[in-house]
Amino acid sequence: MATDVAGNLKRVVQSLPPHVRLVAVSKFHPNEELMAAYEQGQRIFGESQEQELSRKAAELPKDIAWHFIGHLQTNKVKYIAPFIDMIEAVDSLRLLREINKQAEKCGRVIDVLLELHVAQEATKYGFTPDACREMLASGEWRKLSHIRICGLMTMASNVDNEEQIRAEMTTAWHFFDEIKSQYFAHDDAFKERSWGMSHDYPIALQCGSTMVRVGTNIFGERQY
Ligand SMILES: *Cc1c(COP(=O)(O)O)cnc(C)c1O
Repeated sequence: MATDVAGNLKRVVQSLPPHVRLVAVSKFHPNEELMAAYEQGQRIFGESQEQELSRKAAELPKDIAWHFIGHLQTNKVKYIAPFIDMIEAVDSLRLLREINKQAEKCGRVIDVLLELHVAQEATKYGFTPDACREMLASGEWRKLSHIRICGLMTMASNVDNEEQIRAEMTTAWHFFDEIKSQYFAHDDAFKERSWGMSHDYPIALQCGSTMVRVGTNIFGERQY
C-alpha cells in the first residue's frame, strides 16, 4: 500500500511548536513522494547524497530549500554550491574553506551548521566539543566571507534509552549557548539547533531544537 505522505506530514507538522522548522528528509524516496509533501506546503527537504540531491533539485520546483544533511566530501561541494540552501553537517575547517571557495565562485553566501559529535557511537562524524572550540578559537573562519555559520547540528546515539538521548541533546544545547555567547552573541543568524529525527524528535523538542530532520515518519521506510 502506498504511504500516506500528506497525512503523515500533517501529523508531524501538527506536533511541532511554531518556532520549530521541519526538514523533510527525502533521501531514497522518489519525486512523486516529495511532491505529495510539497503540495501540502512543505518547502524544506533534506538529502544526504550529492548526485541524488542534484538530480532532484534539477527536476523539482525551484522554490524548494534543499538542506544537505549527510557527510559532504570536499570534492562534491562544487556541484551543490550553486543552489544549496543550507549545508547542515560541516565537520572540518577544510570543508568550511571549500564551501567558502565554491560559494564565492557562484557569488553566494552559503548557510552552514557545524556538526557536533555528542553521541557515544564511534562511527558518527562531527566536531567533538573540544575540536569545535579549537576551530573557533583559531579565528580563521571569520575570514570566510562566503559562508554564514547559523548554528549547530547533531545526531544523538541511535538507542532506545531516552535518558541517554536527552543527555546528549542537552549537552549539545549547552554547548550551543557557550559558543553563542563566546563568538556569536551579536550575530542574529547564529540561532539554529538542528536535532531530532523520526524516533527522537519529541525528545529534541524538549532539548531546545529549532529544526527537526524527519524522514521515515513522513515517507515511510527507505528502499535502499
Ligand atoms: C536520514 C537522516 C535523518 C532522518 O532519519 P529518519 O529516522 O528517517 O527520520 C535525519 N538526519 C540525518 C543526518 C539523516 O542522515
